[in-house]
Amino acid sequence: MHIRKRILVTGGAGFIGSHLCERLLNEGNDVICLDNFFTGTKDNVSHLMDNPYFELLRHDVTFPLYVEVDEIYNLACPASPIHYQYDPVQTTKTSVHGAINMLGLAKRTRAKIFQASTSEVYGDPQIHPQTEDYWGHVNPIGFRSCYDEGKRCAETLFFDYRRQHNLRIKVARIFNTYGPRMHPNDGRVVSNFIVQALKGEDITIYGDGSQTRSFCYIDDLVEAFIRLMNTRDDFTGPVNTGNPGEFTIKELAEKVVAMIGTKSKIVYKPLPTDDPKQRQPDISLARRELDWEPKIPLEEGLIKTIAYFDDLLKQR
Ligand code: NAD
Ligand code: UDP
Repeated sequence: MHIRKRILVTGGAGFIGSHLCERLLNEGNDVICLDNFFTGTKDNVSHLMDNPYFELLRHDVTFPLYVEVDEIYNLACPASPIHYQYDPVQTTKTSVHGAINMLGLAKRTRAKIFQASTSEVYGDPQIHPQTEDYWGHVNPIGFRSCYDEGKRCAETLFFDYRRQHNLRIKVARIFNTYGPRMHPNDGRVVSNFIVQALKGEDITIYGDGSQTRSFCYIDDLVEAFIRLMNTRDDFTGPVNTGNPGEFTIKELAEKVVAMIGTKSKIVYKPLPTDDPKQRQPDISLARRELDWEPKIPLEEGLIKTIAYFDDLLKQR
């Protein structure tokens, strides 16, 4: 018999959260999508509103929440530098107070709880590719610190709640992910390049474009989340989730230009401070424990993402 689980997704109206809500509903669960709509939108989940097992709740995770749930996916937090640096104090509060509130909820309801952590906990890494046992190289007082240190502190809280209260925790360290429903103006490299190319504007490479990133398509990431949540209780992570295929930012720009066939020119702008030089996940642990690896190549994911932004721009 299918048991309908009651699942809370914080940040559920955001890019990743909306795809996760959709997947959990498709699997026959009862989903509460919580969001304060700072960077997420109702549009991201409007197609789910007719489902009687979907509930949209306007709430800020920095305040306590009382609901009865079996599982919690804690995703609430602005993810792009321009958004998380807009109100850095609130960003840290969202990660830290948000984690405390959601862990408190998990403790009371005995729910299993998942944390959307980030590759940014490794900072500007000195080892490559990054494995989960690397402690990171993070600036505690820079412009990115509100996000990086907030996420690091959230991980600390998760592991202390586990040690002190025996909670069932699952921590994923997400590497750059892209796909439909990314915010068109969030300054992330994939959305920026696609939107610029579709509009025929200059493609802005920061620095000389030799810095690297590894891009994971959203459907692959959501699959990893579900598998991690369903691991045995003594598996907590942290586990890297991302695509190990590594590209320079210049290669990405050239790929997007070629795929869209745009007349946009590539231009070079100053590199933001503390911009990591190289980033690639080592996903051996995910392969072993989740029996997971990304399946969607960059080009295939870009086709779907370009189609999404093309529609969005036409609607506007
Ligand atoms: P997003 O900005 O689209 O989603 C975040 C959501 O959280 C938004 O809907 C926003 O409105 C909501 N939110 C922010 N502050 C909140 C608060 N105080 N209370 C309630 N809701 C709040 O970003 P995303 O890319 O979907 O990221 C989701 C999660 O995954 C984040 O925790 C992010 O740090 C993490 N992550 C994402 C990536 C990536 O490449 N996209 C990489 C690493 C980690
Ligand atoms: N980047 C770029 N042009 C843009 C946006 C970003 O060259 O228009 C670069 C950015 O400096 C970084 C990389 O692309 O080196 C990835 O940036 P993003 O903000 O997407 O993610 P993060 O730095 O958090 O990995």
